[in-house]
Amino acid sequence: MSLLTRDEYQSIADSLHLPTGAYINGKACAATSGETFETVNPATGEVLANIASCDQADVDKAVEKARDAFEAGVWSKMHPTERKKVIIQLCKLIKRNAREIAVLESIESGKPIQEIENVDIPESIHCLEWHAEAVDKIYDQMAPAGDDAVAMIVREPIGVVAAILPWNFPMLMIAWKLGPALASGNSVIIKPAEQTTMTALRAAELASEAGVPDGVFSVVTGLGETAGQALGRHMGVDMVSFTGSTEVGRYFLEYAAQSNLKKVVLECGGKNPCVVLDDAEHLDVVAEHIVNAVFWNMGENCSSNSRLIVHKDVKKALVERILHRARDWRTGDPLDPSNRLGAIVSQEQYDSILGYIAKGKEEGGKVLMGGAAMKEGQGLFIEPTIFDEITPDMTIAREEIFGPVLSIITVGSTDEAVKVANDTKYGLAASVFTANVRRAHRVARAIKAGTVTVNCFGEGDISTPFGGYKQSGFGGRDNSIHAHDQYTEMKTIWVDLSDGETDGELD
Ligand code: NAD
Repeated sequence: MSLLTRDEYQSIADSLHLPTGAYINGKACAATSGETFETVNPATGEVLANIASCDQADVDKAVEKARDAFEAGVWSKMHPTERKKVIIQLCKLIKRNAREIAVLESIESGKPIQEIENVDIPESIHCLEWHAEAVDKIYDQMAPAGDDAVAMIVREPIGVVAAILPWNFPMLMIAWKLGPALASGNSVIIKPAEQTTMTALRAAELASEAGVPDGVFSVVTGLGETAGQALGRHMGVDMVSFTGSTEVGRYFLEYAAQSNLKKVVLECGGKNPCVVLDDAEHLDVVAEHIVNAVFWNMGENCSSNSRLIVHKDVKKALVERILHRARDWRTGDPLDPSNRLGAIVSQEQYDSILGYIAKGKEEGGKVLMGGAAMKEGQGLFIEPTIFDEITPDMTIAREEIFGPVLSIITVGSTDEAVKVANDTKYGLAASVFTANVRRAHRVARAIKAGTVTVNCFGEGDISTPFGGYKQSGFGGRDNSIHAHDQYTEMKTIWVDLSDGETDGELD
């Protein structure tokens, strides 16, 4: 889709329908308590809307309706090919409304419109389509039980799935959860992050229009400690699929332990290394990947390569190129399509990032670029920042910043690079750059992370699983056919064919 001008995007923003109610059982509704919370445009400080602040009563209602729909079989027992058609119809509606959804998402999250239009929306549609297309091509299994039994291993939808989402990729995270969960036949309740609620509400409206039956896809809006916790502890929720911080992910394990042992899958934080070895070639290309890896989505990205671990022999040439490229990443109004970095999502996140930048300076980091807030009216903007002379023990080398901040750590050997790369509690993603295929394989194997990309930054694609080692994840993977495992239970059906006689007669 070709991009519009800033003024054209603004006029779409000015005329948008802003969904504000929770979406339960196929209808928008206020919270039972009547409570609301504000959602704010972080690029301007303007209050966009007051959103229903759901609590236990609303969660009870959403779970009851989800359960009723599941037991009635209106979706769970629908033929997979029919479910596929409905999800494909949803994709068509998202495509038809893509521009409006992109603007809605941008004004609420601060994300640059060009990224949402070029990456988030197309990838979300592709993800939903991929899972819908897969679901009528997945076969169950037979176990080798001999001639006297038929032993089937079948997969069945789990039931009521709660998806708890972060704010950094509102539409894409919906697609990552909703695609496989719905395609597998579950009822799904989404709890979007309170900073970015409206994309999920719009998606739910479109799902109803596409033919997803009432109760099968609901959105419970609200705060983490109330709506999120109520879902986590609910006896009627069979599974929680969570994406967010490691700290909050832990709560969901506790909630499950203290309630019904619901299945829990966690996709959490990262402090991802980008390792550049002394034989890395095409340093211009390497620099491009590094800049993209750290500044894409303002660094509010779980797979952000926020630690550059570079061999001393290539460092000078590489850093020159990084600085040169980074200057092209303009920061400012997210609705201006020439800006590649937009606003930081919230005051809390903005203060946290600036706190880390201050800490980096205090602990002896040398600022090569940026290192400060940008004054743009009431907007929350931070300069893309690059620190050199960072050592692995410094705070900004250890903690997830979730902002546009790169820390450069210099090493003298491949062994040291791998040691530093693994010196973290996280293990989500990593990149390695080298011209030698043998070293590439050895280093990729040695780094403890769920995804390791060689000679590029990335997360694989929809066909490859995504999730973390160590404290970056728990219990399963998003994306690929393996995502369907999260949302299905495995059942053995053993049929005894013997009738006690051994004469080999057929009847
Ligand atoms: P967060 O953990 O603060 O919030 C995530 C969700 O949990 C939100 O919906 C929030 O309302 C809810 N929540 C908060 N407190 C809760 C509580 N006490 N009980 C129940 N629910 C609660 O995360 P965030 O700030 O929205 O997102 C940033 C984090 O997400 C980063 O750490 C990032 O690395 C991670 N993330 C990971 C992936 C991945 O695939 N691994 C993808 C995107 C983001």
